[in-house]
Amino acid sequence: MLTEILTDEQLINLYTTPGYLVAVDYPKKEVTLHTVDCMLADPISSVGVKPSKARENKTGEFWVSESRDEAISKAEEIAKNKEYTYTVCPICDR
Ligand SMILES: [Zn+2]
Repeated sequence: MLTEILTDEQLINLYTTPGYLVAVDYPKKEVTLHTVDCMLADPISSVGVKPSKARENKTGEFWVSESRDEAISKAEEIAKNKEYTYTVCPICDR
């Protein structure tokens, strides 16, 4: 099931659950696929995504699914609709 992530806390709580994060960065026009345990998908990490802030500033959106295929479908759909670049994170690619 695909779930929209609206706050940092929601994502932090999913850290130990197997799953995939679709991170959409509006300013960069990028859609990136991560595993939820990637450091770039960790709001606590200084380099990680910050869903609360992105939502507040309208700079991005985030979706999580336990299914890699479902997450990829969502990422590709957003990339196609918004004409963004879709990439799989090189750090957590698996
Ligand atoms: Zn990653």
